[in-house]
Parts: sequence; C-alpha cells; structure tokens
Amino acid sequence: MAKMVPGAIAYFEGGYVPADQAKVSVMTHGFNYGTGLFEGIRGYYNKEEDNVHIFRLPEHVDRLVRNFNILCMEIPEDRAAIAQICIELVKRSGFKEDVYIRPLCYKSELSLGPAVRGIESKLCCYLIKLGDYVDIESGLDVAVSSWRRLCDNAIPTRAKTTGSYINSALASSEAKQSGFHEAIFLREDGTVAEGSAMNIFMILDGKLITPPPNADILVGITRNTVMQLAREVLNMEVIERPIARTELYVCDEIFFSGTGAQVAPVRSVDRRLIGTGKPGEITRKLQDIYFEVVQGKVPAYRHWCTPTLG
Ligand code: PMP
Repeated sequence: MAKMVPGAIAYFEGGYVPADQAKVSVMTHGFNYGTGLFEGIRGYYNKEEDNVHIFRLPEHVDRLVRNFNILCMEIPEDRAAIAQICIELVKRSGFKEDVYIRPLCYKSELSLGPAVRGIESKLCCYLIKLGDYVDIESGLDVAVSSWRRLCDNAIPTRAKTTGSYINSALASSEAKQSGFHEAIFLREDGTVAEGSAMNIFMILDGKLITPPPNADILVGITRNTVMQLAREVLNMEVIERPIARTELYVCDEIFFSGTGAQVAPVRSVDRRLIGTGKPGEITRKLQDIYFEVVQGKVPAYRHWCTPTLG
C-alpha cells in the first residue's frame, strides 16, 4: 500500500482531486520511458500577511515550457493556465505553511516504443507541504560521487526530465549509504557539475564561483537568484567557470542551491573540512537574504513572489 501524504492534492485530467486518486495506466509512455518533464516550485507562508507566496512562478513555468521543445511536447495549457493551476492548488489545499508544487507534463499515450515526436502529452500537477528538504543549519557532509553526471548530449540535463533522475537517485543513495548527506557529481571530463538535485557554488577569495550553463547542469532558478543577490546585495563578483574537484578542497566556502535545498551550506567534502568546518560567513549572509526574499519581505525582489490567497 502506497504511503499517503496528508492533504496532498493534484490537478489531473482537467480536475482537482486528492493526489492519491490521480492515477495513470501501467502502459503510459511517460511511466515506461521516463518521458516526463517537471518543475519543482516552492510556496512560502508569510505569517504577517497571512499569505502563501509562490517563488519565481513565471520563471519556473517558463523553464518548463521552453523545455517542451526538447521532448517535442505539446499540451493544451499555456503559460498563464499552468501558473493559474499552481495558484489554484495552493488555494484549494488550504495550507497556511510552506508548500511544494510539482507540475509534470508526461507523454500520456498508451503506446509501445521510445519516441518523443507525435505522442500525446498531458499536464498534471500536485502540491504537498514541505519544510526543509536538507539540513540548512549545521552544514552538509558531502562526497564526490562514483557516478558521473549525465552528459547533456545523452540525456539533456538542461531539462528536468523524469528519466534523468535515475542519475540523481543513484548518486544520492550511494552518498547516504556511505554516511554522507549529499553527493557532488563530476562530469565525464572530471570537472564539477552539481549535486544530486541542486547546483553548487564555491567561494574563493571573496568571489562566488559556479559551473557554467553548458556544464551538464540543470540551470537552476535558485542558482540565478543567488547569483543576482550576491551581485546586487553583497556587491560580489560572480564567475561562471569550470571547477576542478580539488578546488573544492581548498576553497573558503561551499553551498548548494535549489528549490528543495534552498541555500544549504556544505561543511565537508570527502571528509575534508571546508574553511572552518562550519557554514561560511558569506554563505550565511546569502542564506539570510534568500529567506527574507522568498517570503516577500524585500521590496526590491517582491516581484519574484506571487501571492496566492487574495
Ligand atoms: N540541479 C538539479 C539536478 C535539480 O534537480 C535541481 C532542482 N530543481 C537543481 C539543480 C536546482 O534547480 P532550481 O534552483 O531551479 O530548483
């Protein structure tokens, strides 16, 4: 019997239902071949305003819709309709706490054979409550994975395809089984890519450095947020360039960014302490700004927050 998630609701085949009632056939193309494309979006509850703000909703919808072209996907819903479904799910959930919204487009035909073109797709979307996905206080102990990051020319890393998460699942479980909190993927060329479901940043001599968009990464929306906040609020130089594995051992600070991970400090890599072995000073500052921003408390970035309840 599958585990129930209390209060989880879904948009499925044009209606809103409890998430455990949103079911597909075993023959569904997306289920068999991993031909699904999804987003992960957070809504943050702002107590003073008694409202849930969805963070960077248009940007998430935009990434999803742009990536349709990679999987030759077409659905009846346009950007505005997809955004509206996300808002509607928050309203219908009645949750006055932090939530996670997962729009998912999948090849819905019951057809045999891997293909992307000419197969009907559908949109579904679900919402759950979600607190912290990883520890964001003490710092994570991470390890370079024995699994390599997917190559974008094999399974596009730029798109959040359901199939590509086998790569993440292997690395994440390997890390946990070996007593680490998270994994760091290297690319086939040996340079650093990202975490299992998060982008990576290092701070070296006061500069914020992260792998570029063509480094087999998912180009994260939190990554973009952090880069902008570092430049505009902390006046930092931000550099996108390849990172060597050993640079991780000698840098001053490391953190992950992601919708789920938020801004998560790393305290060790491969059992080597990073900096002081505690969350770094700049990481802490970025984290503080980030949490103010996502709750809609910083006027300059208020446009990133979509209120849902009136
Ligand atoms: N990389 C991977 C592989 C991910 O799954 C995620 C989570 N979506 C990220 C990076 C971070 O992306 P975002 O900040 O857009 O959530």
